Amino acid sequence: MNLAKFPRRGYVTEPTPLEALPNFSKALGADINIYIKRDDLLPGTAGGNKTRKLDFSMADAINQGADTIITCGAVQSNHCRLTLAWAVKEGLDCHLVLEERVKDSYNPEASGNNFLFQLLGVKSVTVVPGGSNMLGEMEKLAEKLRAEGKKPYIVPGGASNKIGALGYVSCAEEVLRQLFDRGLAIDHMVVPSGSAGTHAGIIAGMVGNNAGIPVTGIGVNRKKPVQEAAVLNLANETLEYIGAEARVPAEKVVAFDDYVGPGYSLPTDAMVEAVKMLARTEGILLDPVYSGKAMSGLIDLARKGYFPKGSNVLFLHTGGSPALYAYLPTFRA
Ligand SMILES: *Cc1c(COP(=O)(O)O)cnc(C)c1O
Repeated sequence: MNLAKFPRRGYVTEPTPLEALPNFSKALGADINIYIKRDDLLPGTAGGNKTRKLDFSMADAINQGADTIITCGAVQSNHCRLTLAWAVKEGLDCHLVLEERVKDSYNPEASGNNFLFQLLGVKSVTVVPGGSNMLGEMEKLAEKLRAEGKKPYIVPGGASNKIGALGYVSCAEEVLRQLFDRGLAIDHMVVPSGSAGTHAGIIAGMVGNNAGIPVTGIGVNRKKPVQEAAVLNLANETLEYIGAEARVPAEKVVAFDDYVGPGYSLPTDAMVEAVKMLARTEGILLDPVYSGKAMSGLIDLARKGYFPKGSNVLFLHTGGSPALYAYLPTFRA
């Protein structure tokens, strides 16, 4: 698909590695070969998937003459860390609105991404209760900054709109190119599914290119039907924005909610197992909120025989490892 017509900043300078995980595959013992797409190694402070989306979102902000970026996320948001990091790089102010999705979870002294918000010089942090209208809160802040003579631009949560999702359409195309170059046939792709832009972009890219690679999303927050509708909507909005003729059929969107556990960002035993297993077999760090739960989904599905024997399964590693340092007791227990 022709993505060249969309302005971007060039944050993604080369393809991220696509690696085999022979030790992990063996430890899993499900007779499948697992590969990993290392988007945890993208540029930007500590890497992760938001860099691909922000490549396009920040270009839009700069083209609109913004001097200030406002975005939102949970109290340990990787998206907030990366938006702030790229704003720093661009010489723009950055303000964060943090949602306490878990009551009383905001701790100004917390480690992990929260520590990095301060280290990277965030202009302001506004904490609001879980369930707040985040766009409304960001608009309130924008109004205040405009009155001070600033030109704020709001990046939606996770940069998950049709602009940000272009980054993951591009990732799907990058993957297809890598598979072609190596003559590697991938039978299935597994991706984390949060604010939906990553999953939507990947599926739009795969369907739009007639790749024939099914994509399974592992939800980290919302119920399956709600998440699937969000992904489907955004995928098709993105294809329309690109000017592609293809549309994603509803039945191709799968976002399991079986691995969320007690709620968004709350640890599960299976997440801890997944994080430890990948660390101890391959030396790769997942995170407790997204990629750890997504990998726990892949592990469970593999054990249940969801992937036919001999399958080559590609896991998208979206990053997030700084959040590990806000969860030390979970991993020490
Ligand atoms: C944001 C995030 C995700 C989810 O991506 P969405 O586009 O929000 O669905 C997955 N993993 C990590 C580490 C993230 O920060």
